[in-house]
Amino acid sequence: MTMADFQFLRIVLCQTSHPGNIGATARAMKNMGLKHLTLVNPLDFPSDHANARASGADDILQQASIVSSLQEAIQDCKLVFGTSARHRNLPQALVTPREMAERCHAFTSQAQQVALVFGHERNGLSNEELAFCHIHVNIPCNPDFSSLNLAAAVQVLCYECFLAFQTNREKPQQYIHYDDLADSASLEGFYEHLAQTLTEIEFLEPAFPKRIMPKLRRLFGRTQLEVTELNILRGILSAINRKFKG
Ligand code: SAH
Repeated sequence: MTMADFQFLRIVLCQTSHPGNIGATARAMKNMGLKHLTLVNPLDFPSDHANARASGADDILQQASIVSSLQEAIQDCKLVFGTSARHRNLPQALVTPREMAERCHAFTSQAQQVALVFGHERNGLSNEELAFCHIHVNIPCNPDFSSLNLAAAVQVLCYECFLAFQTNREKPQQYIHYDDLADSASLEGFYEHLAQTLTEIEFLEPAFPKRIMPKLRRLFGRTQLEVTELNILRGILSAINRKFKG
């Protein structure tokens, strides 16, 4: 099994309220061979409850990164999966855990950083947090009782990664130029520029934004933009900016 590939895969927990869930997540990760945990504004961490539930996976807790925003947690990532227990009113591209794991393997085997993002125990990921994710993952289950415990959801996805990384020993087909992909921070810079420009040309009215930006984010999120493509798009925006100022 190519354990080394997990070095490019991180689990991100957002606003976790129960430290026990952080510990159980560390255990679930270590069982499957994952190492990198990032915590976005955990309510109570470090904590004895977390250590107790980690049952021997304390090393993952000790090495966990703690950051204050999801953007910071994923800024260098080329692929970001957001998990959700229910369908949202503006659905992104949605995949099964198995498809997610295959894509993870494809990216990480090309040394590209990938994140799996998990939400708050009760509220899940906010729409704003989900918008930072390129693809959504849903664990199919009982439709009348579809919300798994946070660490249980982490376990299922890590297990799928474990299997995918084990069976896909051969390098997946290279249909994307992985080294050239834009990272999350560059994409955010582009979205900001796009929103400013669309406002400048009065296509977007800040008072009545409709759902233009979320829909555009979804469109670009599906395409895996390369840096050179992103530069062309930003060049077009700058040309428009010049004309309007001119
Ligand atoms: N009411 C929340 C559920 C929160 S459960 C919601 O509707 O999203 C806490 C976290 O566990 C979720 O944010 C998600 O990261 C994960 N999770 C729980 N059930 C899941 C499922 N069926 N599919 C994918 N992720 C799930």
